[in-house]
Amino acid sequence: MIPRYIQNRDRLKALLPELKGHLEKCSLCPRRCQADRRVRKGACGVGAETAVALFQPFFYEEPPVSGTQGAGNVFFTGCNLTCLFCQNYEISQEHKGVVLSVEELAVIFLRLQNEDGVHNINLVSPTPHLPFIIPALLLAADRGLTIPVVYNTNGYETSESVEMIALFADIFLPDLKYVSRETSAELSGSADYPHFAWEAVEQMITLNGYGKFSSEGVMEEGVIIRHLVLPGYIDESLRLLEEIRRRLGKYVPVSVMSQYTPVWKAKEHPILKEPLKKEEYQRIIDKIAELGFENGWVQDPGSAGEDYIPRFLGDKVQLFRRKGV
Ligand code: SF4
Repeated sequence: MIPRYIQNRDRLKALLPELKGHLEKCSLCPRRCQADRRVRKGACGVGAETAVALFQPFFYEEPPVSGTQGAGNVFFTGCNLTCLFCQNYEISQEHKGVVLSVEELAVIFLRLQNEDGVHNINLVSPTPHLPFIIPALLLAADRGLTIPVVYNTNGYETSESVEMIALFADIFLPDLKYVSRETSAELSGSADYPHFAWEAVEQMITLNGYGKFSSEGVMEEGVIIRHLVLPGYIDESLRLLEEIRRRLGKYVPVSVMSQYTPVWKAKEHPILKEPLKKEEYQRIIDKIAELGFENGWVQDPGSAGEDYIPRFLGDKVQLFRRKGV
């Protein structure tokens, strides 16, 4: 396969002035905070430079993303949501990370490909960093980058950004967190998240399709929707699954995660301070079976805990089945 950032090299180059404009007046995400990022950081905590907290081969994404060699995860600093249960809060909310130049970012991409042999470059929380990611990908492509790009996002995206991202991202891994404005406002600081995230996911499926896989079962193109089940908010998850089935059909790949662990502000939240109960997660598994989804993954209920290691069932594409869950 030829990755999109190579296929669309000229179109991406033409976007560079527009991306620079976002550093002066940013509207890259639905916050549209208009920050002049040259003088102050935006609502996401990102300013005129990119910063990365961690990059490494990662084996705990969904099986066709991690494959046998791992995904090439690059965790970017900052976030446009403020989820009080964020499992990566040190990076997203406390803004831990190392400032990098565009060239250094390109070198990271190349190192993950050439030295670690990963299947893809998996950009985690990338949207505020688009003005640096796109030139870094172009530079890395000039120096030999050829593996697909995964766009690992909370789903809070504008349609303009999704259109731009689909020019270089072969695979989208968007979250769908909520259906209700009230829950979204309370837990993630954004009442309009459901509106934007649902529209973004539909657009991603239109642009990238449900999924194409190599003969070894590694994903090369497509979309996987992710949903983290929260304790005490099971009705929200049940409604969300019904809505996915109604709006997107039964073939859309869905990954349901049980890895919730009370961290950061969730430790003081009256409901979220508790871990996810086995009975709660079982209701979700039952719902998945009832709705008849054909493609996706459920996380092993034992994947939670402060020192959890996410364990996805099986090593290739798994159908949702109650058996073995
Ligand atoms: S990406 Fe950051 S700076 Fe840009 S609009 Fe969103 S919150 Fe504001």
